[in-house]
Amino acid sequence: MTLSLAAALAADDAAEDAGMHPDDRTTCHQHQDWAENCASKHSRPSAEQMLAHTVRWGN
Ligand SMILES: [Zn+2]
Repeated sequence: MTLSLAAALAADDAAEDAGMHPDDRTTCHQHQDWAENCASKHSRPSAEQMLAHTVRWGN
């Protein structure tokens, strides 16, 4: 984690506590990363991820 990411996470945490909508975060508290770097981890439905695993293991 870079210092700028750590600072941005802290700033987003503070802003969210102050009432900012979570969608307005530039960072992801769950993954401790920039939101743009982990967006794909959130947008796919879990069922679709399970299907992807099934296909992978089926090979
Ligand atoms: Zn994330």
